Amino acid sequence: AADKEKASSVAKIKVVVRKRPLNKKELAKNEEDIIETLANSVTVHETKLKVDLTEYLEKHEFFFDAVLNEEVSNDEVYRETVEPIVPIIFQRTKATCFAYGQTGSGKTFTMKPLPLKASRDILRLMHHTYRNQGFQLFVSFFEIYGGKLFDLLNDRKKLCMREDGKQQVCIVGLQEYRVSDVEMIKELIEKGNATRSTGTTGANEESSRSHAILQLAIKRSVDGSESKPARVVGKLSFIDLAGSERGADTTDNDRQTRMEGAEINKSLLALKECIRALDNDQGHIPFRGSKLTEVLRDSFVGDSRTVMISCISPNAGSCEHTLNTLRYADRVK
Ligand code: ADP
Ligand code: MG
Repeated sequence: AADKEKASSVAKIKVVVRKRPLNKKELAKNEEDIIETLANSVTVHETKLKVDLTEYLEKHEFFFDAVLNEEVSNDEVYRETVEPIVPIIFQRTKATCFAYGQTGSGKTFTMKPLPLKASRDILRLMHHTYRNQGFQLFVSFFEIYGGKLFDLLNDRKKLCMREDGKQQVCIVGLQEYRVSDVEMIKELIEKGNATRSTGTTGANEESSRSHAILQLAIKRSVDGSESKPARVVGKLSFIDLAGSERGADTTDNDRQTRMEGAEINKSLLALKECIRALDNDQGHIPFRGSKLTEVLRDSFVGDSRTVMISCISPNAGSCEHTLNTLRYADRVK
């Protein structure tokens, strides 16, 4: 009963904003930091032009569950977002943590350390609180690029998705590794990150067009014994989303880029709708909208938790993208 209580005390949906510091390039260009933060609010100071070309300031204020400024460490981000969820995935909960934002806003910087910190806590719980109860930890890592799935822990092998009669999602052929210590998970995470789409134009350019999905699954055999096949108890997914500005690539000259842009736009819209549907507790959740939401289907049904980390850049040049990100995050809530 105490466990049940613990689970219900963790909010179903949490929306957090993280602002990164100005980088060297922006500092060299004397770019202004236009983002003001408080514990629960962000204000964007937008410079606009009147018809006579004189400048004026427009303020946009937004409120969220938490706003993390440029001084906040990755450890603190973990404590604010994923740490409270870890214990409840032992109680049949599925949880998902997303990083949303334009390319260069800090999504990968924010997401990369989270699964490692989470597995450290999960393993600790398995070795102490749940000692000898037959729990096992598994990791898988794949990406969605142009609506197709690729295994990041198996040389980008192309994967396909199947749904069984019980609405469980199965990704056929996806490599799953059982992990028993932190070193092993660290290696797998590094391997996966190194395997993300790099294409011909350089790492960041291409990876900004893909969604990377790392899943930690907690399994347990029926009677807790090691020899019996294990079933999924809870799942924690970490999603480094494609750059939100890529969804606007629908008028690009290149056909491939246009198609990818359309797919990204579709998936980010579908994601927003699914999260909103979760909050309203309405029966129908519009998974079918995109590959991303179809893949995450089993993380949206039943007792689930969602954390959205919206990453924003502080510089004046990113103002429009930042406003788009904050409006998206605002709609999710
Ligand atoms: P994205 O994945 O959204 O495209 P990245 O995570 O790659 O963006 O971040 C872009 C750059 O900014 C990287 O060099 C990263 O190290 C740096 N950066 C991002 N967030 C922070 C932060 N909070 N503190 C310091 N550097 C950061
Ligand atoms: Mg990135």
